[in-house]
Amino acid sequence: MKALLEIDDLHVCYGKVEAVQGVSLHLDEGQIVSVIGPNGAGKSTLLAAAIGLLPSRGRIRFDGAPLDGAGVEDRVVLGLCLVPETRELFGEMSVLDNLLLGSYARRESRAVRTRQRDHVYERFPRLAERRSQRAETLSGGERQMPALGRALMSEPRVLMLDEPSLGLAPLIVEEILAIVRGLRDDGVAILLVEQNALAALESSDYGYVLEAGEVVLHGKSADLASDERVYESDLGGV
Ligand code: ATP
Repeated sequence: MKALLEIDDLHVCYGKVEAVQGVSLHLDEGQIVSVIGPNGAGKSTLLAAAIGLLPSRGRIRFDGAPLDGAGVEDRVVLGLCLVPETRELFGEMSVLDNLLLGSYARRESRAVRTRQRDHVYERFPRLAERRSQRAETLSGGERQMPALGRALMSEPRVLMLDEPSLGLAPLIVEEILAIVRGLRDDGVAILLVEQNALAALESSDYGYVLEAGEVVLHGKSADLASDERVYESDLGGV
């Protein structure tokens, strides 16, 4: 299978603190790959570096080409996209305007944006119903949908999700993860960062366990899900 995102020996520092210490991972076409680990393991830092929000040492390749020197917008245009843990919706803007922001980096024509919007509404019918509602009036669980929908407006080939289950009721988590699996089946490769290890492993093909900035274990998700060591480590949600 073709590797879409290859991260090799990545190091990310906050001043003198090295939050990511030589992480290597890869995400192939057609896969969901999960990165699990406790608070402070470096998961969000890894994603922020991959999208270009933080400087890093090491190599990141997208679809075979190095991303050296590419800014966030360049990476989005190439087909890489991040849904941050904080969702980052613009509360005073409508759901629809939040969605449209997702197609901004690619400077799409109105016709393309309309097609993308209709695709998002098909996947999230509730967003169509609430398109005129201000984003700040959505409940916590409902906010994950426009955040995901906005990311899809850039038609990513690789979607990176930072803790999509955070703060959500179990039923909503299942709904979101079902949507994520549907995206994978439609050809979007997904890097899924989660503290909820079991939910992430049940929805992914391959998994990496991160602890204190390092990969301590990796393997097929089905094997990791039955690996005692995953449960011995200090993982939340297990
Ligand atoms: P969580 O699930 O709690 O978000 P995480 O695995 O995503 O955890 P990171 O948020 O990437 O972990 O944090 C990794 C380490 O880097 C932690 O020790 C954290 O305290 C530190 N860190 C994160 N952001 C900053 C920052 N802006 N400045 C300094 N240190 C930071």
